[in-house]
Amino acid sequence: MSDPGIEVRPIHQMSGGSGFNEVFFTEVRVPDSQRLGAINEGWKVSLVTLMNERLAVGGASGAGWTEFMEAARGITGLDGASALKDQALREKLADWYVQAEGLKHTRNRTMTALSRGQTPGPESSIGKIVSALQMQDLGNSAIEMMDQYGIIDDPELAPLRGAFHTSLMFAPGLRIAGGTDEILKNIIAERVLGLPGDIRVDKDVAFKDLPTGR
Ligand SMILES: Cc1cc2nc3c(=O)[nH]c(=O)nc-3n(C[C@H](O)[C@H](O)[C@H](O)COP(=O)(O)OP(=O)(O)OC[C@H]3O[C@@H](n4cnc5c(N)ncnc54)[C@H](O)[C@@H]3O)c2cc1C
Repeated sequence: MSDPGIEVRPIHQMSGGSGFNEVFFTEVRVPDSQRLGAINEGWKVSLVTLMNERLAVGGASGAGWTEFMEAARGITGLDGASALKDQALREKLADWYVQAEGLKHTRNRTMTALSRGQTPGPESSIGKIVSALQMQDLGNSAIEMMDQYGIIDDPELAPLRGAFHTSLMFAPGLRIAGGTDEILKNIIAERVLGLPGDIRVDKDVAFKDLPTGR
């Protein structure tokens, strides 16, 4: 990263953070001693790094359904009943719980494969698509339920310190980073479920020869 041809430009996110960069490589030469994988197998290396990112992102932390339940316990509606008595909310909680359990077991399968020295398959794409959507849904519902307390950062007033607000702001980016929802759906459809492939008119065309409209 100290090569003079490498330029790092931070990206400022709407969540307020700046956890990502654009990195430009100009005339950067990498010595063969630092090559990863065999010659002409670069895509395999890229896929492993992408899958690693999807796995890491799929296990995204942040406020989850347990924190949601905790918050709901302390909130009462106009009729004085606990938010946890709300049928629509209970249905959502059940969905989130089932999703969280499914993700846990999918991750366990991946960990088992890794511990046996195997490479996890395309099923790892499931984690990110489920958890990013869940994060957005949880954030939305929590802010609706908690009203302004959902976005307040003062621990005296709001013990969760806007945790769901942060998730809500971060989730859309998570649905793009490391492979968009649509790309992950393509992978799951074709490589996990074995459905017919998407039409790819540019499959055998070099990237530099793709029509760009310029
Ligand atoms: C928070 C965040 C962090 C990021 N961090 C990094 C990073 O650290 N390093 C890095 O290199 N990149 C990073 N990215 C970039 C990210 O990997 C890309 O934005 C992402 O892969 C999508 O590519 P794209 O933006 O070129 O969209 P495109 O590929 O141009 O897609 C545009 C739209 O078309 C849809 N689409 C494209 N192809 C298909 C298809 N075949 N079928 C159906 N729909 C399709 C997409 O779903 C999307 O809605 C980050 C992005 C975000 C939001």
